[in-house]
Amino acid sequence: EKKPAPNFIRHIINEDIQTNKHGGNVATRFPPEPNGYLHIGHAKSICLNFGLALEYNGVCYMRFDDTNPSKEDIEYVESIMRDVRWLGFEWGEGNLRHSSDYFDQLYDYAIQLIKRNKAYVCSLSPEEIRTYRGTLTETGKDSPYRNRSIEENLDLFERMRLGEFNEGEQVLRAKINMQSPNINLRDPVIYRIKKMTHHMTGDKWCIYPMYDYTHCLSDMLEGITHSICTLEFEDHRPLYDWVLDELQTPCHPQQIEFARLSLNYTVMSKRKLNELVINRYVNGWTDPRLPTISGLRRRGYTPNAIRDFCERIGVTKSDTCIDMALLETCVREDLNTSAPRAFCVQRPLKLIIDNYPADQVEYMEAPWLTEKPELGVRKIPFTRELFIEQEDFMETPPKGYFRLQPNGEVRLRYGYIIKCISVEKDPITDEILAVHCTYDLETRHGMPQSNRKVKGTIHWLSANHSIPAEVRLYDRLFTVANPDSAGGDYKDHLNADSMIVLKDSRVEPDLATAKPEDHYQFERLGYFCADEFDNNAEHLVFNRTVTLRDTWAK
Ligand code: ATP
Ligand code: MG
Ligand code: MG
Repeated sequence: EKKPAPNFIRHIINEDIQTNKHGGNVATRFPPEPNGYLHIGHAKSICLNFGLALEYNGVCYMRFDDTNPSKEDIEYVESIMRDVRWLGFEWGEGNLRHSSDYFDQLYDYAIQLIKRNKAYVCSLSPEEIRTYRGTLTETGKDSPYRNRSIEENLDLFERMRLGEFNEGEQVLRAKINMQSPNINLRDPVIYRIKKMTHHMTGDKWCIYPMYDYTHCLSDMLEGITHSICTLEFEDHRPLYDWVLDELQTPCHPQQIEFARLSLNYTVMSKRKLNELVINRYVNGWTDPRLPTISGLRRRGYTPNAIRDFCERIGVTKSDTCIDMALLETCVREDLNTSAPRAFCVQRPLKLIIDNYPADQVEYMEAPWLTEKPELGVRKIPFTRELFIEQEDFMETPPKGYFRLQPNGEVRLRYGYIIKCISVEKDPITDEILAVHCTYDLETRHGMPQSNRKVKGTIHWLSANHSIPAEVRLYDRLFTVANPDSAGGDYKDHLNADSMIVLKDSRVEPDLATAKPEDHYQFERLGYFCADEFDNNAEHLVFNRTVTLRDTWAK
């Protein structure tokens, strides 16, 4: 195991341990809102929070930040837990939490704030609240309800809880400072009425606490020491601290902000991902073209590759856009040394070896994986009739084309050198139906001419022994690096060729039992895995994770 690189958060933690700031403890949390599937940006936060807990022998809570019942769904809760575990992290017994677990305590704290004259019930409409709040250049104006008595506030807040008001009629606000240059401190709403069933608390509540109020208190209740969030919460930190200070809570977690991950050639906001899913630009949240963890898994990404990526991008305080090529490099590097090799012919062209006996079968031996000799060898059936890639034959090739051509020779990988002697065409359409060759018996592995050099080597499969498969060639979802600022709507830049489905491909017979998280390198083509949902014994489906080289680099 490599030692993690130093970063500013580890620096803070090391200092806190030295000064015994949180009793020497490290407690973090990963707090997603269950309103969508996790994406690669969340993976950065997961690796950071769970990683720090492991590194410092602390704890990381898995907390669902479920304060908004209107957007949350149990499907999301389940996918999130699966994805965190799949990435290789465990929260441990008793460490699965929900913000909604704390609704009673949050309510009690709200009453305390009212009693300390630090919160009031405001009866302005949502529009009025917005107007009174002011803008960046214009300070806010006090609400006419700001000076309600503590008794009246307690009574109104209780009646809010009992359901006596409609949504939007009353809110509870923190009494801070309408003149603050920080808009977040201009008497933020901390409770609102929502007459909705909650996925955890059912109909117990019709008032729900707001994110900022909930988050700091949930952190405090769990004894979080370092509350790590993304940079856009920097301006919320004064509110985070205000709530804990006013309530004189027994502990005070430190909020630390870091730069969120953004990646080129994709979009990452849940709002946009949701839009692509709902409007069927992609096939659900698990579509292999999406940057969701479930999409990446289905595409053939490995937990190793994603963790390595998160380590390599590091943790900083400045927003940068990471190149998709780095993510692709991480998965290539992982699979290069771990994925067994196999042959696949994506677009088959019949090749007939005229001088090879019609009913003979030889088994050509090839390593599953050179790096892992213990996996043994695969035996690829070789026969008179083969398939090669259409693009590995050209009747009138350009200069420098070293694959098969009339009168030319190539080596069939792990097999013989063959020579093309004629081309069989459809008399009407002129389409190439088959290529006829002869083979040189002496060029097989172990034979005297086995080292004879030819310029091209191509892959092949036996026409009768190979098995049919559907191959899905995935590519980047957008044609431009930054779809948000490339002009027009981001959806105008979707890549029309982000998925190419080949229904007549062939693979080695041993792949009949391939399972979703088995990864293969299809030699010369790229890394592939069986599709999580559509692959079965009757109908094999392989997804291309990534090509062997970066074909986008110019
Ligand atoms: P989005 O903006 O995509 O909707 P979010 O921040 O609203 O994301 P949450 O479910 O609240 O989504 O995120 C859970 C945790 O993951 C938060 O702590 C958040 O800081 C972190 N996170 C979300 N997106 C990223 C990202 N792109 N890079 C790093 N961390 C992220
Ligand atoms: Mg959020
Ligand atoms: Mg969001």
